[in-house]
Amino acid sequence: MTTLPAGLNQQVLVLNKAYAAIRVVSARRAFILLAKHAAEIIALEGERYINYDFATWTELSELQQHLEPEEHSWIRTPRFSIAIPTIVRLFRYDKFPAIRPTLNRRNIYARDHNLCQYCGTRFATRELTLDHVVPRVQGGVHSWENLVCACVDCNRRKGGRTPRQARMQLIKTPREPSRPTARSLRVGPRTYRSWRAFLNDAYWNVELND
Ligand SMILES: [Zn+2]
Repeated sequence: MTTLPAGLNQQVLVLNKAYAAIRVVSARRAFILLAKHAAEIIALEGERYINYDFATWTELSELQQHLEPEEHSWIRTPRFSIAIPTIVRLFRYDKFPAIRPTLNRRNIYARDHNLCQYCGTRFATRELTLDHVVPRVQGGVHSWENLVCACVDCNRRKGGRTPRQARMQLIKTPREPSRPTARSLRVGPRTYRSWRAFLNDAYWNVELND
């Protein structure tokens, strides 16, 4: 039985071609993507992000293991050492299709930041209701574009009318969120300092898997 180096389970952030965070994978999976030339490495150096292809990164690792061994985690074999990247970026869009967020109450509240979309006030989740912008009785459907958070008062005032009929205005046009509101990721260890720039939006919640 062979034992894989422990570092291969380390987490690596995956960006799509447009630099949006889409997944967290194991280093093992990241190296497979790199070996297949499906991704490049993004490294934080000082305050700058630098792109490296796998071959350059491998060569650089030879130098870095002597110059700055503390800066990286390493995979060491008798023949070579390679620094484990913390971020890789896919060259193509279709490798991991973006996960579409599920249309449910929780995700609508998250999209609207718990703000009543009519009066703009923030409420606790239990004090909010879901409002069909175009009411069901008038043919309104169940969709991201037609469902918003509303407080009890605004919902009652609007009743079975459209905003125009009720002379009420939405504070924002409802849309499908561009990124999943799935599980949020805690970025703690120093190694993942480099992830922060890609995770600073509340919607940049990436799915954790291998
Ligand atoms: Zn309200």
